[in-house]
Amino acid sequence: MRYYSTRSKTHDVSFSEAALGGLAPDGGLYVPAEIPQLSPAVKSSLGSMSYLEIALELIRPWVAGDIPNGVLEEMIQDAYPFGAPLTGLSDRSVLELFHGPTGAFKDFGARFMARAFSYLRRGEDRPLKILVATSGDTGGAVADGFFGVQGVTVTVLYPQGRITSLQEKQIAGLGENISALAVEGSFDDCQRLVKEAFGDQELKERLALSSANSINISRLVPQCVYYASGAGEIPGAIISVPSGNFGNLTAGLYAARMGAPIAGFVAATNVNRTVPDYLATGNYEARSSVATLSNAMDVGAPSNFERMAAHFTLSEMRQMILGASVTDDETRETIGDVFSKEGYCLDPHTAVGWRAVDKLKAAGPLGRGDRIIVAATAHPAKFAETVEPITGPVTVPPSLQKALGRTVVSRPIPARLEALREYL
Ligand SMILES: *Cc1c(COP(=O)(O)O)cnc(C)c1O
Repeated sequence: MRYYSTRSKTHDVSFSEAALGGLAPDGGLYVPAEIPQLSPAVKSSLGSMSYLEIALELIRPWVAGDIPNGVLEEMIQDAYPFGAPLTGLSDRSVLELFHGPTGAFKDFGARFMARAFSYLRRGEDRPLKILVATSGDTGGAVADGFFGVQGVTVTVLYPQGRITSLQEKQIAGLGENISALAVEGSFDDCQRLVKEAFGDQELKERLALSSANSINISRLVPQCVYYASGAGEIPGAIISVPSGNFGNLTAGLYAARMGAPIAGFVAATNVNRTVPDYLATGNYEARSSVATLSNAMDVGAPSNFERMAAHFTLSEMRQMILGASVTDDETRETIGDVFSKEGYCLDPHTAVGWRAVDKLKAAGPLGRGDRIIVAATAHPAKFAETVEPITGPVTVPPSLQKALGRTVVSRPIPARLEALREYL
């Protein structure tokens, strides 16, 4: 498979170059030259295939030429000792994407990416140094995914005092090849520092730097798999995706275009409603983000929108995607309602996905007969501060329990490139 930058079609690269490079040199995002197609045989048997079998079929064409089948199979087996089960509730199903080690769907992307990087860098003597800025969930998934991976070191930059203590333990409690910097500033400062480091000539010459944010195509490809597995069980469903940077929804669109039997999507956002507004008005207006309870979705300028726009026109997007945005009050109310009516506990992000469906049902675009899947992007125990006052105590799964016992080792740094450079 060859990949182009969203900003120019003059120069194509391999999967390996696209994955290890992250961002294209012109600042664009890598997109596939064409979206691969599932064979009719695979399409019709998705419902009876295992998660690992679906993963192999779906990922194979995206990495063809760079990762041989046998290696890919081992990678997938090693990355996914957990799956993405569907839980049926009264009028919809929940696709649980939180059974990985850090309790959020980002484990699916990060665990594949780590194994792919390690293979693609085999034989290189300089270790690859990954810099990643996080507002909470990405850092934990990337740290966990790369923990103990040969030839790769990870430095996570997080805003000091602005992530939960569980998130801090997931990021700064591992040690070995993972290090953590508590930046004296905001998430935006962390992201700016990472960008400045990539733009710094001296650092570039001295270190092999890469990034692990959702602009990286190797995180999106493995996310197609759970859409196909969910759609295999409930063909023709409309899938609601709680969205921030729109990497997850983009992966869903890829799965649908590959031929997975998906009828459409709901782009569910909190009040950071850039994309729902675009679908409604046709005007794309990026803005500054507003802080909400579903903080992993506090994004005013979603980075993967550039990918969506490279593949689809506004009217194509409108045919596939319904948009809806949800306030914090509605989020809290939904957590309470669903807990009392269904006995099921939603995290604040998944609650946004759930409520978006309710709103679209009330307004008309979704009908009674529509089969609905809500993607559950995080385990509620990860956001206990919000959930527990509403539902009472939430059971903590063993993987998160394990992280709670770790000791945080991180280094505070001022939000200046000089401080980061010195550390590196
Ligand atoms: C990252 C994240 C999202 C948003 O996903 P995008 O791919 O950025 O749209 C939603 N929910 C949770 C729990 C997340 O961690």
